Amino acid sequence: MKFILSIGIVVAVAAAAGAQQGPNDHPSVTVHGQTYTPALILSRNMGTDADQTTQFPPHKIIGNVYYVGTKTLSSFLIVTPQGNILMDSTYERNVPVIQKSVSDLGFKFSDIRILLGNHAHGDHQEGDAAVKQLTGAQVVAMAEDVPQLQGIKPGGKEHPIDRIIHDGDMVSLGGTTLTAHLTPGHTHGCTTWTTVVRDGGRDYNVVFHCSYRATGRITPQIADEFTRTYTLARTLPCDVPLGDHGAQYDMQAKYAKLKPGAPNPFIDAANCNLETDVEEAMFKAMQKEQQAAAK
Ligand SMILES: [Zn+2]
Repeated sequence: MKFILSIGIVVAVAAAAGAQQGPNDHPSVTVHGQTYTPALILSRNMGTDADQTTQFPPHKIIGNVYYVGTKTLSSFLIVTPQGNILMDSTYERNVPVIQKSVSDLGFKFSDIRILLGNHAHGDHQEGDAAVKQLTGAQVVAMAEDVPQLQGIKPGGKEHPIDRIIHDGDMVSLGGTTLTAHLTPGHTHGCTTWTTVVRDGGRDYNVVFHCSYRATGRITPQIADEFTRTYTLARTLPCDVPLGDHGAQYDMQAKYAKLKPGAPNPFIDAANCNLETDVEEAMFKAMQKEQQAAAK
């Protein structure tokens, strides 16, 4: 009876959030008072089809880091005196949206010199070839993501890859340096980027978290990858947590709090590991469920 009751509550939560709650949507975990299921997390990340392609108001996050993505798919612009860095082209159809956001902020899309990626899935890197075509930017890829990136070929276009990096490698331009941390699991080359920005006379650690979301069957290799990733994610110095989907750092609520003279809502050290906690709890629950089913 208890079991049936708890399922009922999960269904109600999922219905309220507009998620597709099916009989296969399990397990459910509660982290810091919030209940999550795999479908709830996915719907929180992706939103509707329109959310994935509609411009979100472009804005300065902190220092030289700006948001130029859609309502649910992140794209970040890092501005330097020697040209700019774009992180995540998202879907190819979004490239004109990102272009508009860059110019709405007063920057030139053609000033993009380097294109970085979060991980080799279409919703984050399908537009790489289009960005390369428009800007000539150097496309940087984590070695472990290269095979999957090569499979992302919108309209048959080869995926551009100009520089292959490894865990701990750095990318520098115009006085800004980003460090690539291999945080595998979601993809084998999932990359968490870190940098230090200066704002209001202080330095801040910015962490562009990769997706730490477990999907499908957890093989021993994937379990090893995630275990390493969750541990590493918590060791990264962090004042400003960001992610490949705005929902992973509560972007919309923070954006609403942006006001001249008010504290910067994106400085949120207390919640740097919140998304890691959620994804680790879900990973462990999925792993337990899959191990029980295999017996
Ligand atoms: Zn993904």
